Amino acid sequence: MNVLLLGSGGREHALAWKLVQSRGLDTLYAAPGNPGIARVATLVPLDATDHSAVVAFVREHEVGLVVIGPEAPLVDGLADSLRAADVPVFGPSKAAAQLEGSKGFTKDLCLRAGIPTAGYVRVKSREEADIALARTFSLPVVIKADGLAAGKGVVIAFSAAEADAALDALFADGEAEAVIEEFLEGEEASLFVLTDGVALMPFGSAQDHKRVGEGDTGPNTGGMGAYSPALVLTPALERRAIDEIVAPTVATMAAEGMPFSGVLYAGLMLTPQGPKLIEYNARFGDPETQVLMMRFQGDLLATMLATAEGRLGDMPAAQFSDETALTVVMAAEGYPGTPKAGGAIVGLDSARAAGGTVFHAGTRLEDGGLVASGGRVLAVTATGDDVATAQANAYRAVEAIDFAEGFYRRDIGWREIARGA
Ligand code: AMP
Repeated sequence: MNVLLLGSGGREHALAWKLVQSRGLDTLYAAPGNPGIARVATLVPLDATDHSAVVAFVREHEVGLVVIGPEAPLVDGLADSLRAADVPVFGPSKAAAQLEGSKGFTKDLCLRAGIPTAGYVRVKSREEADIALARTFSLPVVIKADGLAAGKGVVIAFSAAEADAALDALFADGEAEAVIEEFLEGEEASLFVLTDGVALMPFGSAQDHKRVGEGDTGPNTGGMGAYSPALVLTPALERRAIDEIVAPTVATMAAEGMPFSGVLYAGLMLTPQGPKLIEYNARFGDPETQVLMMRFQGDLLATMLATAEGRLGDMPAAQFSDETALTVVMAAEGYPGTPKAGGAIVGLDSARAAGGTVFHAGTRLEDGGLVASGGRVLAVTATGDDVATAQANAYRAVEAIDFAEGFYRRDIGWREIARGA
């Protein structure tokens, strides 16, 4: 079978790397891809916002499955256009992708379905926000823009002045939609569950490192590193999160005529009262996918196709290796502000020789050499028997790479290592 993979990040490189290990794969096409994906796939210049061009490509190249990596084409309804053309697609409809595309939608769904999450108020004006803040919330308080914001639409305000500043920025142009919510105490973990709208297949856990600086300091990023599994999400807590959060979400979406098909990525806060939902994503995480794919032992194409075709209930449970996988993101100087483009990168072969698996994100080829082209540039990944070993292996590979205009966090995995893992 031929497969078309849409996206260009480290997540898509990891999916491509795993898809080409599938027995049933003939040709893997990727659009737009990146130089790392080009090592395993045929890159094609397709614009994912042009739905009819994607459908035409699929027909012409006999593509049997389209895998949509990032959120934007999902929220834009690309999966609906493909399904209307009878093309199996891994990724939810536009209606179901609201679980990621609108924080207010998800909060209201949690309320209807009794799903544990932070208390909240949806507001549409500065006046409503002021009333909600004065009446309902104590500090710290969390203020979120309603729509897609690439991880940057959330402010945790520790003082009234910080809350005011966040609301000033949000309502600078007058009308906006926002969610104000209770601050949850605890440790975060990411849980992945495949679903075809009915059946659920738990698909591993990970812990991300969102802040740019060591010790989880500085501004939020798309993610500076991750490891899998998330040991804090014990099997008992994972069971609770599936029973109390993911299963009622999937059932409610189906009952309301918006069945969710694809991967549901639950951002959880492990609070003293149990797991609570922080947010949903309607696609795989980046860089969590890089570590999940290192551990997944099944056939990714067969699993994704079963998801797309509503046959997940017939599949065996997903198997993951017992090893820990850990990935370190190498970013361009300036990220997450204005990353410096064009920095030369050498030594990927040495990183591989040192035992690392290097996933490309923001790279491009220039005069035959590899240079940085985006904020997050590489995700250097390794495995080990425990977090400390996986960390040592990943950093050995990172250190083999010469990327003078880049930087990386030196403490990925620190929480677990501090706990002795
Ligand atoms: P989100 O985009 O909703 O995942 O939020 C980004 C980050 O903000 C999360 O990963 C958390 O670290 C933090 N955050 C969001 N909502 C809350 C909350 N209610 N309580 C505490 N931290 C939160």
